[in-house]
Amino acid sequence: MSKRISWEKLSWTEIAELDRESTSIIIPTGAIEQHGPHLTIDTDIYNSDAIARAVAEKIIQGGKQRVLVAPPIWWGTSPHHLGFPGTISLKNETFTSILYDTIASLKPHGFYRFLILNGHGGNIGNLTATVSKIGEELGISIPALSYWQTITDVLIKVGESEIGGMGHACEMETSLALFLRPEDVNMEKAIIDMPKQPTSWSCIDFRQPGFLNIPLDLKRDSKAGIIGNPVLATREKGEQIFNAAVDRIGAAIEGMAHLKKSDLTTSSF
Ligand SMILES: [Zn+2]
Repeated sequence: MSKRISWEKLSWTEIAELDRESTSIIIPTGAIEQHGPHLTIDTDIYNSDAIARAVAEKIIQGGKQRVLVAPPIWWGTSPHHLGFPGTISLKNETFTSILYDTIASLKPHGFYRFLILNGHGGNIGNLTATVSKIGEELGISIPALSYWQTITDVLIKVGESEIGGMGHACEMETSLALFLRPEDVNMEKAIIDMPKQPTSWSCIDFRQPGFLNIPLDLKRDSKAGIIGNPVLATREKGEQIFNAAVDRIGAAIEGMAHLKKSDLTTSSF
């Protein structure tokens, strides 16, 4: 059997032969949006796709399960970044439709083990609504997980910035880029731009379990599209963050393998 992990690199006959029971499909979501002057606009989708691929490679080596990575959904909902050039933002209904139509295309062929792996905070509300709609109308229960939510403890341990330093194009995302693709980072352009909210509990920060989530407008709320402290980013931090996310998400997929078809689908499947 082909050991490829990219859905689009298989033929239809290879896909037809996949064992539905042991095949999971990760759908990476993210955004094409400005990430300050020092990171590229594909940061969010690059990260979720890279983590998804590493998870798939790791699990395929274990031998029992097969994880395939669906074509990543490049664009997310990023209206709060449109004040800077480069951002391409989908309407909520467009984003929902792309995900819905992806699942609706695969369902008739019996696939039901999916995980949406998200790399963009601005997608979270939409994803919650979309997986609910998919459950109701297509009869499949699909978890949608944002990678940083699996590694809060690691971010707290690794992060050196004060709360607010890991918000956007920040200590975390810049560290990941320095580890995964340093050639795409321009650290000379990285600046510290801490959020304006006056209290730690109101700050956007990937380490916060919950916070006063005031909808952002980066043009209003940042100097150059950054929220946080990318100056403290290092390759080593990025490596720890990446490896931890791959481990945790891999464990989540392996955990889901114990769920039966009847646990993940309803009568309308
Ligand atoms: Zn980002």
